[in-house]
Amino acid sequence: MNFEGKTAVVTGGSRGIGRAVCLELAKGGANVALCYAEGEASAQETAALCAEYGVRAIALRCNVASEAEVKTFMDAVVGEFKRIDILVNNAGITRDGLLMGMKEEDFDAVCDVNLKGAFLCMKAVSRIMMKQRYGRIVNISSVVGVHGNAGQINYAASKAGVIGLAKSMAKELGGRQITVNVVAPGFIDTDMTAQMPEKVREGLLSQIPAKRIGTAQDVARAVAFLASDLAEYVTGQVLCVDGGMGM
Ligand code: NAP
Repeated sequence: MNFEGKTAVVTGGSRGIGRAVCLELAKGGANVALCYAEGEASAQETAALCAEYGVRAIALRCNVASEAEVKTFMDAVVGEFKRIDILVNNAGITRDGLLMGMKEEDFDAVCDVNLKGAFLCMKAVSRIMMKQRYGRIVNISSVVGVHGNAGQINYAASKAGVIGLAKSMAKELGGRQITVNVVAPGFIDTDMTAQMPEKVREGLLSQIPAKRIGTAQDVARAVAFLASDLAEYVTGQVLCVDGGMGM
């Protein structure tokens, strides 16, 4: 896939799926701007790995749940690269718990980062993409946002929400060569799933027809497809990258 001359913004690009997305887009020739919350060193490492593909890459701290920080981040990206062609809303957190015991602050924290963060970034790039008459947005949801999951009511709501954001923006801006799609990963081997008890891990594995846990690169390849011109007539769609888990 060819992303030469394109600028990609990836939120939460310091590790896991976000880092794999940065590298996949850089491999295709995109300049990359990634943001992170705390992991400065690993974010700079992602940028350095991208630069090995001969592209320009910057890593900046930005809490996607803050409108002011998102604005500062996007302004810096435009200052550096002059345009934003691709936005991947990947930054995400979990604070799991059953409904009865879930604290309001845990509900709010997850929705603030996963859902409001995606909204703020989409809003911030929309004017730029409209002016360019070109844009590719990919929101990272989850199979949990499609099917629900006991113990993840906040996370499921936020991940269902990013599907609604994508479909609505696809309808609002479809006439300007802006596509907005969703990738819904299944069970992917990253820091987010690393603490999962062995029993839960085995239970999930038994539900995956592909008989393996997914990799960050499995997800990144699907994101790259939707961000590419190969997918120019694909918009408002949800692509599950889950080894068949959600069938
Ligand atoms: P991860 O390894 O925990 O990485 C999360 C990333 O998000 C990090 O780069 C982190 O930055 C960043 N981040 C967290 N809060 C942020 C904030 N407020 N502002 C900006 N960046 C923030 O997670 P992952 O497994 O790669 O997941 C990436 C995305 O895929 C998430 O949206 C997740 O919900 C989704 N997903 C994952 C799976 C899975 O099985 N792993 C399945 C379905 C969906 P720092 O390094 O600075 O903390």
